Amino acid sequence: MRVLLADEYGFCFGVERAVDMVEEALCEGDTVRTLGPLIHNEQEMQRLGTQGVTTISDPVQIKRGETAVIRAHGVTPEVQRELEERASKVVDATCPFVTRVQKLAARAAAEDRHVIIVGSPDHPEMIGVKGYAPEHAFIIKDETEVADLPRLRKPLVVSQTTIKAKTFFDTAEAVKTKTDDEVQVINTICSATRDRQDAARALSNMVDAFYVIGGRHSSNSIKLVGVCKENCEKSFLIETEDEINPADLIGVENVGVTAGASTPQWLIQKVVERLEEIGRANSGDMSLK
Ligand code: SF4
Repeated sequence: MRVLLADEYGFCFGVERAVDMVEEALCEGDTVRTLGPLIHNEQEMQRLGTQGVTTISDPVQIKRGETAVIRAHGVTPEVQRELEERASKVVDATCPFVTRVQKLAARAAAEDRHVIIVGSPDHPEMIGVKGYAPEHAFIIKDETEVADLPRLRKPLVVSQTTIKAKTFFDTAEAVKTKTDDEVQVINTICSATRDRQDAARALSNMVDAFYVIGGRHSSNSIKLVGVCKENCEKSFLIETEDEINPADLIGVENVGVTAGASTPQWLIQKVVERLEEIGRANSGDMSLK
């Protein structure tokens, strides 16, 4: 049995950078506390937990002597200020792609223009971006919500980094009905999610079974399984190698592997090793478990 990895999988640039920044702070001997879980992966959070990283849900929980970490989603300027006042050090791991959206929103607000952000109003990234233009920004999910907007002044339309391109462009088009001014549309979607889906789709045509490694509540991992199932019915979402059932791999010649954007490399490596072990056992090598 051959184990084939998708061309793009696992940690995206922003998550990898955030984890690296936390590890650097640990190396410097800091007491590290992240505002919200650093990433949506239980196993990686446990690993960081064993190194002393803890999570807080509110800036008031941070104390002098501690290092506060802002995760890749970013926060509002108020929250950042509060962390800076309370903590001894703040590590800002906001993904640069998110920082760009925050800056665009802040600049448009400074010019007294309206900002339409296409995304989920409850998502931490969206709450953070709106904080940069609190009096000027509206968060809407899609074009069906454009009708509820007031008349707009020189609107700027930007997006949550992880939404679908079609949703963004359809909404941007609908926004034109709400203004007599020119609409500035800046696509701020990050390609990490789409790249992983495209790579999984391409590989799903070539395999008999597919394993997506990711948290059970990770939306990008769940979406990856859906993509794999388009061409490969035997597609499974697993969190660890212990969830692989060897019986599912009997008669399988090629097995695909991909992972969500919050899945660390060490976890992916364990799954690949377990699959290779099962492959050898299924081919009759009795020296294997
Ligand atoms: S998905 Fe994109 S925007 Fe979000 S953290 Fe990863 S690289 Fe940054």
